[in-house]
Amino acid sequence: MKFYELSAREIAQKVRSGELKASEVLEKTLSHIRAVDGQPGVLDSVSLSQAEENKVHAFIEVTESLARQQAEEVDRKVSAGEDPGLLAGVPISIKDIFCIEGVRTTAASRILSNFYPPYTATTVAKLQAAGALIVGKVNLDEFTFGSSNESSAFQPCPYNPWDPSCAVGGSSGGSAASVAAYEVPLSLGTDTGGSIRQPSAFCGVVGLKPTYGRVSRYGLIAFGSSLDCPGPIAHNAGDAALMLQVIAGLDPRDATTTLVEPSNYLGALEQDLRGLRIGLSPDYAHIAYPDLETGEVSYEPLQAEVNQATLDAAEALAKAGVEIVEGIPMPNSRFGIPTYFVISRVEAASNLHRFDGVKYGYHTDKPVKDLNELYRLTRAEGFGNQPKLRILMGMYVSASQHSAHYYHKALKVRGMIRNDFVQAFDKNGKYALDLLMTPSTPTTAFKRKAVFGNTVLMQYSDQMNVCANHAGIPAVTTPAGFDAKGLPLGIQFIAPEYREDLALRAAHGYEQATAGAAWRSRRPVVLGQGKEQA
Ligand code: GLN
Repeated sequence: MKFYELSAREIAQKVRSGELKASEVLEKTLSHIRAVDGQPGVLDSVSLSQAEENKVHAFIEVTESLARQQAEEVDRKVSAGEDPGLLAGVPISIKDIFCIEGVRTTAASRILSNFYPPYTATTVAKLQAAGALIVGKVNLDEFTFGSSNESSAFQPCPYNPWDPSCAVGGSSGGSAASVAAYEVPLSLGTDTGGSIRQPSAFCGVVGLKPTYGRVSRYGLIAFGSSLDCPGPIAHNAGDAALMLQVIAGLDPRDATTTLVEPSNYLGALEQDLRGLRIGLSPDYAHIAYPDLETGEVSYEPLQAEVNQATLDAAEALAKAGVEIVEGIPMPNSRFGIPTYFVISRVEAASNLHRFDGVKYGYHTDKPVKDLNELYRLTRAEGFGNQPKLRILMGMYVSASQHSAHYYHKALKVRGMIRNDFVQAFDKNGKYALDLLMTPSTPTTAFKRKAVFGNTVLMQYSDQMNVCANHAGIPAVTTPAGFDAKGLPLGIQFIAPEYREDLALRAAHGYEQATAGAAWRSRRPVVLGQGKEQA
């Protein structure tokens, strides 16, 4: 086994016991990043040599000195006999949407390209307090608006480690790619409408969106404040559980964090699959496109291998003692994307008002005659196309003359979507499910440039994910094999609120049930270009 394949739990255990030094882990990690990552994303894109076509480009910045200081501190604690924390010596990449004091935080936008926050996000502070080594900021779609990472103002955007001509997904694409290429065992991402799970599925890794309010949003640059959830991206459910254990919990700085105590996520992995009731829904076996004029819905099939992977997974789970319940009705899931289109744009437009060239961030260089012109030029020059589109749509659908027709209707439909889950999970109801299992994405990773520019089509790649955001409930994606092109397939477990433990238990049980499968030993092609790490 290569050094870089050590799991986060193995690294932490070895560092905590003194068998391995955090500084040694860091040097090996930095040398692997140097070997596989290539040109980082930069504001004014650079031309790439042929060799760069097989690199990952996950990072915007490698925070080498920050990580080195932390590694020294962890090593000092271990030798002094102090507790270095649950994540001692574990290298972690951070989606560049979380503030870290003194470290440039860009949201992959020109408008924040010179922003050095004076404070650190609660999640990052908790990771640091647990001994994690923050090795860098990774790329994303601008302000997390996208499903391919291509909308980043920092180019090159990440390339898929399994096939660099394919997209990594988004918006936490740098996070998913950095884990998939074994640059780090863990990354911190965010999920507003699928942004942890869709790129994790495209890159063949595990991604968990927690319950809304389970993890603090303080210090996370906001997109959709009623939807945003920070969460872990990892190689396996156990490492995701470890990160969640550290970042979950009440935060006095985020009034939407819950009073419900976090569960024992690591402990949940010790329970096997027997006794779980997991549902399959025909409403997750196709994509629904509502006609915007008539409201009629037409359906298109998913990639056949995606459906098949879900059925094969159900069979493997049944063999391991799960009761599979077919035919669960989720009738309102077909409205998930249109509803998200409205709600997320309204919240985005509202959250983006603060970027005005006055308080912080980019400021136009052009002479201006008044404050309005300063706002206008700063925002015109500083925002890319996605933020502009989303501001326009968000303002339109929430305008007083339109809001009853769009925004308020979307809020009602959101309630109906949530109710589908409440009924499916009701312990006294007809279905009494512990979990719903679905494909993670309608297709495997698409080619770079193939969908970029078509906002509607791009948004539909989140159709399997977005309803969990509307309902505020947890969901995890886990790898489930490869398609004929060698691209990763994923399955998703959706759980009732605060039951991340169930989602992780199912994902872990599925990993064990398929541990001997040949596809589990495949490794991404970009590692072929990397240096051997004995
Ligand atoms: N792809 C979705 C969008 O573009 C989801 C983004 C997210 O979850 N942050 O809005």
